[in-house]
Amino acid sequence: MQIKGLIFNIQKYSIHDGPGIRTLVFVKGCPLRCLWCCNPEGQTPQPEIMYYRNLCVSCGMCTKVCPRGASVFRDNSVVYNRELCTSCGACVRVCPTGARKLVGKYVTVDEVLSEVLKDMKFYVRSGGGLTVGGGEPLTQHEFVKELLRRAKEYAIHTAVETSLYAGPHIVKEVLRHTDYLFVDIKHVDPTKHLELTGVSNELILSNIRYVLSESLVDVSSFVIRIPIIPSVNDDYGSLRGIAEFIRSLKHEVSVELLPYHELGKHKYEALGREYALSNPIWKVFIPSKEYLESISKFLTSLGVKLVST
Ligand code: SF4
Ligand code: SF4
Repeated sequence: MQIKGLIFNIQKYSIHDGPGIRTLVFVKGCPLRCLWCCNPEGQTPQPEIMYYRNLCVSCGMCTKVCPRGASVFRDNSVVYNRELCTSCGACVRVCPTGARKLVGKYVTVDEVLSEVLKDMKFYVRSGGGLTVGGGEPLTQHEFVKELLRRAKEYAIHTAVETSLYAGPHIVKEVLRHTDYLFVDIKHVDPTKHLELTGVSNELILSNIRYVLSESLVDVSSFVIRIPIIPSVNDDYGSLRGIAEFIRSLKHEVSVELLPYHELGKHKYEALGREYALSNPIWKVFIPSKEYLESISKFLTSLGVKLVST
């Protein structure tokens, strides 16, 4: 029987997630809870319902088909109770406006690969391939490893976007079939990292050293990404700490900045969750071009090799 994985999206024609034109597979489930995460629907390791209230016309179709009483009419409007919902998807199939969306689907490696193979001609022409991201791909390492291994059988270039928050043996196994690697450094201070992401960074930083010291991917195919979240993780002291860590790697690693944006903010409400950075205590803002240029200049002055992928 084929191994199955839980994914929440397959995106075609990406040009920002590795060389050339790529197909992105988003694996569902992540041990981190970054405050700025723009794919919160990828965090939990099971299918779930997104409910966009602004699209709901209170037609009541969902209340008629829900076998659990999780969608009911109250005071002429629909009340959705996430606690009772089993994510069966019945309401999604009847909702006329797209107010309900089921995120997360169990799929076989063959099913994903057949989608990936459809764009083979683009990969060949552009030097592109398959990128697995998420969520966190290493949470489903058996599935991801098999997907990457099978892609390599077709000579497809493979990339992984990961936090490296996993045991080194898992990292090693997955990277056996990976040509190109993206890893985030969100903060170098373990306590601050815990506050911002829900986990300490010790495992992540030691895995970065491990990958490079064991040459698990070629250093020319290794990119460290720094999310720039203004007033949250980008004070000069924090950036200097990241630069010092990168310099200590003793390899000329490429570094890319990921500027903060709020494109995923609306998803939190649809998932029944709060967007933590909405709280004014964080004082976060979307960085301007000039703001990012000054950060780039600062990091470059500290010997960091910045690139844009
Ligand atoms: S997914 Fe199923 S259980 Fe959940 S609200 Fe819709 S119909 Fe009810
Ligand atoms: S079926 Fe869709 S539009 Fe109709 S009440 Fe339910 S969520 Fe709203």
